[in-house]
Amino acid sequence: MPLKTSTYFDLLEALRQPGCAACRLSDRYVRENIDSFFYENITNVARREDIRRSRGFCSLHASMLPAPARMQGIAILHQDVLNDVLREMESVGRTATFWRRRDRAASVRPKRACTLCEFERDREQFVLSTLVALFRDPELTATFDASDGVCMPHFYGALKLSHVAAADMKAFAIAQTTKMARLRDQLIQFIGQSNGSYGNRAMGDEADSPLRAVRMVSGRIVHADGR
Ligand SMILES: [Zn+2]
Ligand SMILES: [Zn+2]
Repeated sequence: MPLKTSTYFDLLEALRQPGCAACRLSDRYVRENIDSFFYENITNVARREDIRRSRGFCSLHASMLPAPARMQGIAILHQDVLNDVLREMESVGRTATFWRRRDRAASVRPKRACTLCEFERDREQFVLSTLVALFRDPELTATFDASDGVCMPHFYGALKLSHVAAADMKAFAIAQTTKMARLRDQLIQFIGQSNGSYGNRAMGDEADSPLRAVRMVSGRIVHADGR
């Protein structure tokens, strides 16, 4: 069995909270990364160059940036990006051929992916590998069984993992599909209840099943404060 890294213990903690643990942890790691970047690395030349080339961050990650203590850093980074695009436009705009070209956006659009998307994908991989590779650890199995399971995007991500023993993958997939089947059954109950075929009986666990289904199917709905 692989080593129980700090990610294993983070996973146990995240599985005890509502929603997908992989979404919750990815969100937390990205927020920590943003914090340390603004605190320690804002002057890192290579990192600044990457952010310039990616033309800032994707909209999801950009929405995580604002905080009172970060305004100076946000100003520095975004001044860099705007300045770079303006310089490019000034340079290409001088040639008459540029205005006749069809790929006018090529010189100014992002030259690389959002650095936080890359970071998040990398962390997600590690979280999912830890979950599956250690799945048959009794504490992890029990905690997963009592959890909401992972969202479907993270389920697909886990199924794609290589270097995981087939028996571990199978144990994880059975536990996860059991969660999905239970939620599907709750949705059926909810629909029946809404149609009145269950009479006026008060709803049970199925009452919030549509909201849990949206989170499970689409993933990554984490509130701004990480809830
Ligand atoms: Zn997820
Ligand atoms: Zn991003």
